[in-house]
Amino acid sequence: MTSPEPRAESKEPNPGSDAAIEQGCTCPVLDNGHGTGWIGGGFVLSTLCPLHGETAESYLDSIGDDE
Ligand SMILES: [Zn+2]
Repeated sequence: MTSPEPRAESKEPNPGSDAAIEQGCTCPVLDNGHGTGWIGGGFVLSTLCPLHGETAESYLDSIGDDE
């Protein structure tokens, strides 16, 4: 079962990068170093972002907020 469909762009571009913004990314641009990442590593995601919102929400879910 192989799909002949080309899927070169199946992975979304880095948050804050020009490519991501072109696709509607609303994540912080400066905080993400224009797609190179947060100073301490990783990325700052927006739950409102159409590209990375799901990732941000699943991340928040994994943290939980029970104290
Ligand atoms: Zn984004």
